[in-house]
Amino acid sequence: MGLRIVMLGAPGAGKGTQAERIASDWDLPHISTGDIFRKNLKEGTELGIQAKKYMDAGELVPDDVTCTMVAGRLAESDCAEGYILDGFPRSTGQAEALTRLLAERGEGLDIAINISVPDEEIVDRLSARRFCPECGAIFNMKFNPPKGEPNTCDRPGCNGTLVQRDDDKPETIRQRLTVYHEQTQPIEQYYDQRGILTAVNGSHRTPDDIYNDIKTILTQTESGSRT
Ligand code: AMP
Repeated sequence: MGLRIVMLGAPGAGKGTQAERIASDWDLPHISTGDIFRKNLKEGTELGIQAKKYMDAGELVPDDVTCTMVAGRLAESDCAEGYILDGFPRSTGQAEALTRLLAERGEGLDIAINISVPDEEIVDRLSARRFCPECGAIFNMKFNPPKGEPNTCDRPGCNGTLVQRDDDKPETIRQRLTVYHEQTQPIEQYYDQRGILTAVNGSHRTPDDIYNDIKTILTQTESGSRT
């Protein structure tokens, strides 16, 4: 039995970095809706064109578009035994749609991990965030820079040149935080009421320390879901 995990937290809280590690250790597909939108944008698909104006403005892509995309992804065979959703759901409407979708499949989520980081720290972090367009790895030039060549991805065999996301520019960061507080944060209550919310302190801690907490939580969840 795999795990069905949702990662919650503000943009830049470290969801993607942690999801990448969980995916590797637990052998689960890492489904990042932001990554899927960016891939579509790069490839110039209809979905990418539709999403672009919302992404550029730091707004959420409408729920119907996003939920249809996620339903399609979860229908793929690698998701049969579990997955990590990163950046989805991001509104109560999406959380409800996900509950319905999973119920149709006879599934439920095992855990929602909420990484909490104060706003001031988020602004600092997002401004220093870079990613590798080749392999998707995420870095922070202040707190988690690539080892080796400056501004170059250090993942084995990659060597991509790191870039800043357009929406990690200061004006868009503030708008994304507003959207997060207004539309995404209510989801914490949604999962808390369903008894699957777990909080992890993501403030002023290294990715390794945060991951140690997450590993402990997931090991407990796994043994609980197997009994
Ligand atoms: P992220 O990489 O998760 O920060 O997402 C980048 C952008 O993609 C967001 O600011 C939104 O415009 C869009 N996006 C990603 N996930 C979602 C979602 N679940 N619902 C709506 N829009 C999303």
